[in-house]
Amino acid sequence: MKVGVLALQGAFAAHVSVVERLGARTVEVRRPEHLADVDALIIPGGESTTLSMGIERSGMIETLRSFVASGAPVLGTCAGAILLAQECLDGRDDQIQITGVDVAIRRNAFGRQVDSFEADVTLVDTGASSIPPVPFPGVFIRAPAFERLGESVEVVGWLGSEAVAIAEGSVVLTTFHPELTTDTRLHALALGI
Ligand code: GLN
Repeated sequence: MKVGVLALQGAFAAHVSVVERLGARTVEVRRPEHLADVDALIIPGGESTTLSMGIERSGMIETLRSFVASGAPVLGTCAGAILLAQECLDGRDDQIQITGVDVAIRRNAFGRQVDSFEADVTLVDTGASSIPPVPFPGVFIRAPAFERLGESVEVVGWLGSEAVAIAEGSVVLTTFHPELTTDTRLHALALGI
C-alpha cells in the first residue's frame, strides 16, 4: 500500500513516520502527478489558508477533488479537515476548499485563551478490532470545530459532547493531530492498514 501525504506545508513529516511505522510506503505529494499511483491520501494540519495557496499554485485542486471523490481512503487532520469540509466558517474569502465531506467546520473555534491543549478523546467502537476502548490522546492546536454534520456522517471520536473525529464514506476527519502521538489507531482506521 502506498499512502500519499500532501507535503506543501505543515505537519506532514510526522504523518509520514506514522504511516511507515504501520508498514506502508509513503509518497510526498507536491504536484498532481504524485497522486497518480497512491492508494490513500493524508491532508495534514498546518494553516489552511497557506495550504490553500499552495494547492492553487501547484495546480492540484481538481486532482485532489477527484481523488477524494474516488472513494479511496483519505485522512484529514486539523487544517486538512478544514480543507475537506463542504463548508468552512471563518475562512478567508480567497481560501479554496478541496471539499468532499458533508460537514461545516469553524476555524480556530476554541479561541485565543485555549488555543492549544491536550485532552482525552473517546473513540466510538466502530466494530473494527483495531480500536480498543481506551481514550485517544488528542493534541488540539488552534483547532477547528464541526458545527454541522451531514446525515451520512458518523462520529468516530468525542471530546465531551463535541464531535472531534468523524467519518463519511472513506474519509476520516479529525480536528486534532493524531500524528503527534504514538497512538496509530486513527491512521490505521482511516487508511485501512
Ligand atoms: N487554525 C489552523 C487553520 O485555520 C489549523 C490549525 C492546525 O492545523 N493545527 O488552518
